[in-house]
Amino acid sequence: MKVSLANALGTCFGVQDAINLAMTPDFGADLTIVGQLVHNPQVNESLKKNGVSLVNDIDAMDQIKTKKVMITAHGAAETTKKKLSDAGHTVFDASCPLVMRVHKTIKSMVQKDYFPVVIGQQDHVEVRGIVGDLEDFLVINDVSDLEKIEQAGKRRLGIVSQTTLQVEKAEHLVSKIRNLECVDEVYFVNTICQPTRDRQIAVRDLADQVDIMIVIGGYNSSNTKKLVQVCEEKNIQAHHIESFSQLDGVWFHNKNHVGITAGTSTPEYVINEVHEAILKIAREIEAKPVTH
Ligand code: SF4
Repeated sequence: MKVSLANALGTCFGVQDAINLAMTPDFGADLTIVGQLVHNPQVNESLKKNGVSLVNDIDAMDQIKTKKVMITAHGAAETTKKKLSDAGHTVFDASCPLVMRVHKTIKSMVQKDYFPVVIGQQDHVEVRGIVGDLEDFLVINDVSDLEKIEQAGKRRLGIVSQTTLQVEKAEHLVSKIRNLECVDEVYFVNTICQPTRDRQIAVRDLADQVDIMIVIGGYNSSNTKKLVQVCEEKNIQAHHIESFSQLDGVWFHNKNHVGITAGTSTPEYVINEVHEAILKIAREIEAKPVTH
């Protein structure tokens, strides 16, 4: 049984920079990370072991007990950062530059009189940061949300996308919006980030070669779920796991080629553990005597 890793997989530079900052020993136990540093349970456990506090809801200020707070790679609205510093916290900002590009893009669209629309998940911390400084906006996630645009009655739309969306999904939605009679003009900047695109391209290429794909990443990781969707669209059996301990040997019976990919929050050591465990399963399957 052959085992192949996708050409692009695992932690992106934005998440890695944020993890490195959070792991700085100087912080000790005087740091609260607001808004999910990474959607990865192993990284969050290591941080807790270092004494770092984690607050998932960026607006839950009352839960922050430390002087120092850190904004994650997902970013936050300027109003949120100001609230934190007004409350006496020292703010360390690990917002990914590619998320900040989305903030800048949508603000410049508003300045040019476009009505702001974000394609993404309403409750995702990144999306909440993108719209957090806007007075009026829409977040749409699928075609069932198109009626929100019809109801809003805005004729010039400025559209950006959450950085971790599936490229085809965003483009499909934008083409549907362009066809709406109630809309005169659509100014779309596709802000899906390059590391997300690279992982989607790599998983698509690998899916053409394998008969099973193992997708590693947190169950709450948006971009990991998109990698699973890409496999499903290609009718490739895909298993989403968070760690090697969830692998089931039965999945690999009668399989010739296994692919491995991982979302942008998945650390290298987690991928290596899964890779090693699958190679071990492959050796065990090959060592079994063939019965006729
Ligand atoms: S997924 Fe993209 S936008 Fe998000 S942290 Fe990584 S590089 Fe930055």
